[in-house]
Amino acid sequence: MTRITRVRTRVWNWTGKTVPPAGHFCTNASDALYDRGDAMGSFRFHQWLTCEVECEDGTVGIGNAALAPRLVKSAIDQYFAPMVIGEDPFDYAYLWEKMYRKTHAWGRKGVGMTAISAVDIAIWDLMGKLTGKPVFKLLGGRTKEAIPVYYSKLYAGPVAEMQAEAETAKAAGYTGYKMRFGYGPKDGPAGMRENLKRVEAVREVIGWDADLMLECYMGWNLDYTRRMLPKLERFEPRWLEEPVIADDIHGYAELNRGPIPISGGEHEFTLMGFRQLLDMKAVSVIQYDTNRVGGITAAQKINALAEAYQVPVIPHAGQMHNYHLTMANYNCPMSEYFPVHDVEVGNELFYYVFDGDPAAENGVLQLDDDLPGLGLTISDRHLADFEIEE
Ligand SMILES: [Mg+2]
Repeated sequence: MTRITRVRTRVWNWTGKTVPPAGHFCTNASDALYDRGDAMGSFRFHQWLTCEVECEDGTVGIGNAALAPRLVKSAIDQYFAPMVIGEDPFDYAYLWEKMYRKTHAWGRKGVGMTAISAVDIAIWDLMGKLTGKPVFKLLGGRTKEAIPVYYSKLYAGPVAEMQAEAETAKAAGYTGYKMRFGYGPKDGPAGMRENLKRVEAVREVIGWDADLMLECYMGWNLDYTRRMLPKLERFEPRWLEEPVIADDIHGYAELNRGPIPISGGEHEFTLMGFRQLLDMKAVSVIQYDTNRVGGITAAQKINALAEAYQVPVIPHAGQMHNYHLTMANYNCPMSEYFPVHDVEVGNELFYYVFDGDPAAENGVLQLDDDLPGLGLTISDRHLADFEIEE
């Protein structure tokens, strides 16, 4: 038996080069506000949190979180680190429940659950390293020869640029693509036409044998989505993602009765949260993000529940914690994949904080059967481009 001796948290603030996104690059929940400021601001995040859990023999497990890193750091330092120090990392289910129940008044969703997720992921990485096994081998093992991935970028912009990006992705061998809508309720019928023009343009490039996913990032509302669904049907999307805000579960349930599968869950938390979505038939695809939902411990429970409902799980974002769960579960058919590129909205930052994320080739990626833990190390390649708070 070993015990946890230390929990170290660091916030990584990116100070390097960024690419300014175009206007209308993606709708989001702030679009409903009247202020004329930078509505896209809430969509961009150039910070990341690393959480390292060390045990007696000096082995270190690495977890991470991307939501509100400074607040999450504070929650871990003040509340969660003292709860796990001195404990056996292999008692992960007990440790999860302890963190969840002792902060239940404020921790069960949002920042608190994100902090629990970061600690839990680090504990799983630690267990993998201590047993000499990759995490997916502890979760059920290999269920696929390789993980199919879909290309996730295609932010709304000039039609010709989106088509050129889709051409490049197609040439790289992807067979699934997700694009973002740039226009929502405040843009009226003209914005609807702009949205439809771009879906048509991307479909034209990728053809009809590829999966096309459509992302709203909570930037529409129920009425607008009701009116858009019939217009989108002819493009045969695999799913329409987060059309309304995460709390509008009744809205999801109504929309999901229509002709286009509705996906969501990247802003939902824990087994109980997903039970509600599944009971109400609110989504046809579950998209938790392991580093928010409650870590690998919670994600694995949601996987089991979703399998019973026969709703596939395709986690939000790339990243190792999601890939390992996808590899270990039959009910996770593929992964989202953010292509490596310059820092734009912030989805790309994990490629700069960590080494070890596999690159997609010909639309699939691979995990190593023999690399212990999650297979990540904290990178020193870009230290000059970060300000680190410890
Ligand atoms: Mg999304």
